[in-house]
Amino acid sequence: KKDPRIEGIAASIRVVPNFPKPGIMFQDITTLLLDPKAFKNTVDLFVERYTGKDISVVAGIEARGFIFGPPIALAIGAKFIPLRKPRKLPGEVISEEYVLEYGTDCLEMHVGAVKPGERALVVDDLVATGGTLCAAINLLERAGAEVVECACVIELPELKGRERLNGKPLYILVESR
Ligand code: AMP
Repeated sequence: KKDPRIEGIAASIRVVPNFPKPGIMFQDITTLLLDPKAFKNTVDLFVERYTGKDISVVAGIEARGFIFGPPIALAIGAKFIPLRKPRKLPGEVISEEYVLEYGTDCLEMHVGAVKPGERALVVDDLVATGGTLCAAINLLERAGAEVVECACVIELPELKGRERLNGKPLYILVESR
């Protein structure tokens, strides 16, 4: 039932233990990017899923959502919106804070980037606790967009990030631990 392309994608991701700190199993997608077949298959799987779904916005989360989001947006004929870390965007922004293990972080989006009623897809490389995707969903919904789905290459299912997405569907290609 699994697409045969998934195996090669999973094999291309390097897992680096104890990066950036002890206890974290870092899922390194730079090795996926070094494998043109795996990179293309990753984008293709998302494009196949989202073509014809009337999605006009792909919102990518800084930084690795900026790698996978734009080729998906171009292929499905949607615009691309960068959701950025604080104080990077030059125009007027709306901000959404979210809680990390230690402290908080924040995502920002340009006011006017999305119009009320637009159908949006949120893209990042990985979902862990789901806090980042949740902030992205909140930003888009505050701007009046409808978040159709979140798409990530990798899920760490033990962290139950899915449960933090306010019922939004999450589509992933690879599970890791
Ligand atoms: P979270 O908000 O906890 O779901 O964390 C997701 C964000 O943190 C994504 O932007 C990921 O790129 C990054 N991240 C969290 N955990 C990892 C991990 N184990 N390996 C690589 N990236 C991670």
